[in-house]
Amino acid sequence: MHGLERLCIHNSVDEKIPVEAFIEAFDDLDIPTELVGDDETYDETDAVASFTPRSEFLDAAWVHVIRAGYDEFDTDAYEAADVPLTNSTGIHGATVGEISVGYMLSLSRLLHLYRDYQNTHDWYTPTYDRPFTIAGERLCVVGLGTLGEGIARRADALGMDVVGVRRSDEPVPSVSAIYDPANLHEAIVDARFVALAIPHTPATENLISTAELETMRDDAYLINVARGPIVDEDALVTALKSGTIAGAALDVFETEPLPEKSSLWDMDEVIISPHKGSATNRYHRDIAAVVKENVQRFQSEEDLKNRVA
Ligand code: NAD
Repeated sequence: MHGLERLCIHNSVDEKIPVEAFIEAFDDLDIPTELVGDDETYDETDAVASFTPRSEFLDAAWVHVIRAGYDEFDTDAYEAADVPLTNSTGIHGATVGEISVGYMLSLSRLLHLYRDYQNTHDWYTPTYDRPFTIAGERLCVVGLGTLGEGIARRADALGMDVVGVRRSDEPVPSVSAIYDPANLHEAIVDARFVALAIPHTPATENLISTAELETMRDDAYLINVARGPIVDEDALVTALKSGTIAGAALDVFETEPLPEKSSLWDMDEVIISPHKGSATNRYHRDIAAVVKENVQRFQSEEDLKNRVA
């Protein structure tokens, strides 16, 4: 096995983090860091960190996806080429946890509506029974990995009754009951909020569709901070228009950016954030820490952290 001689930062990382700051975060690395574009070639002494997949990465020694979701990368091709692929899971518990709690606080206490009415200097008075406290309300978190646990811990601290859907029934701190994915309907039927925190895989595509939305309470809210295709978006629009559920907070969509013609934009009880669940001013440092740890592991021939292929 060869040692690494170079860490290549593909310029697509700029989709999520400022490239210059990201490169600076590797100042203390003992191999050089280079910004590369689409015309670069790689060999077995190169590591690559990228946002988007490129087929030429398969010539490198190891490839790191700077995101937690790696659904756009062909894991079979990496396995066939015997090139390890790693991702950035493990760092989004606080960032995505906080934005999820923010959505719930807004949907319950109407911050999004007050801000809308503020735009027209309108002293808005909601109906008496519309605002509620999230304390005591049930949240169902689907997927209890980094994101799911981050959401569950924060919701529990605010007094919510947190249940979750998980493939193993091992207890998770802050979660009062765990349901098997086969019992998804049972898990969501009583929840005031359902938060999705699972990867996009063939098994999770369109997991939330008409039947699940009809199972949810009519005063429930759907939160999707995971990936757009996990929700059947047409079914969601129909459910929101017909009052099958009360509202939603969406960070991710089937098509991103969300097309201008989408009716989700104009719904009072839908909060849209432009895939910014993990966006904070220290995101580049959090990702760099995962990459640096793996450079060190690669050089000392230890197993890589967050290996997904
Ligand atoms: P993770 O690997 O730590 O956790 C995912 C969990 O989901 C795992 O525990 C896994 O066992 C579980 N899971 C998979 N399929 C399941 C199923 N069918 N039912 C129940 N559980 C299932 O990953 P993470 O860091 O928590 O991220 C999860 C996903 O969230 C990522 O794949 C990514 O697509 C998305 N994400 C979005 C943002 C954002 O900015 N909005 C940020 C980070 C991650």
